[in-house]
Amino acid sequence: MNNRRRRVYEGKAKVLYEGPEPGTLIQHFKDDATAFNAKKHERFEGKGVLNNRISEYIFSRLNEIGVPTHFIRRLNMREQLIREVEIIPIEVVVRNVVAGSMCERLGLEEGMPLPRSIIEFYYKADKLNDPMVTEEHITAFGWAAPQEIDEMMALALRINDFLSGLFLGIGIRLVDFKVEFGRIFENEMVRVVLADEISPDSCRLWDIETKDKLDKDRFRKDLGGLIEAYTEVAKRLGILVENPAPRPKGPVLVQSK
Ligand code: C5P
Repeated sequence: MNNRRRRVYEGKAKVLYEGPEPGTLIQHFKDDATAFNAKKHERFEGKGVLNNRISEYIFSRLNEIGVPTHFIRRLNMREQLIREVEIIPIEVVVRNVVAGSMCERLGLEEGMPLPRSIIEFYYKADKLNDPMVTEEHITAFGWAAPQEIDEMMALALRINDFLSGLFLGIGIRLVDFKVEFGRIFENEMVRVVLADEISPDSCRLWDIETKDKLDKDRFRKDLGGLIEAYTEVAKRLGILVENPAPRPKGPVLVQSK
């Protein structure tokens, strides 16, 4: 969009540009969708706009409950201002219901509720197809310190509880999701904060009534209707209404006549 800006990083679905102030970046959401480590690639007009809005909504709500994130504010239809972080090269996946790679790895049937939420770690390395790793690998190779792993797990579980409730309230089951974390260095202190995005690209979301998939599996499994599904999620979250109801700032005094 703006060629004068310095591009810091380009991923499969997003571009990061230098921000207006030191320590900030601009996160730009593209329309590209990739799957199976980019072997499958397609563009969906409007996906970037929807994910920008959905991720903004989720990160804002998480900030409100005290989950530290890189999100500062949305700038326009496709971009948000974020704090620059040092990305921890681990994808943290939380699962509530069996789906996706868990079916193949463990020979389980899609849709089986898990006895408890399960956390998995994957090493971010495209060349290796993001292999699953354990805490032992993470600490032995210095990708994250033991205390950082504890923080990522605690935050991932809080995010899971909050998002499960948020989606349940709008008739959607949060099957699983992936999050990434980064480090922020402040006065010789290191803080772990939620980074990247949370959107139907990085979650599995099933309609509770119809079991319809409202996420990137529509693309992975060639089901069609990806934009319609993402739009439905945004609408149910109350993001796409013409005149959104103002969010109450605190307790409201109810007066009787
Ligand atoms: O493919 P798998 O079942 O392991 O994915 C688990 C969850 O993590 C899914 O919600 C998927 O969308 C997300 N994921 C992701 N990016 C990856 C791998 C998985 O967002 N590179």
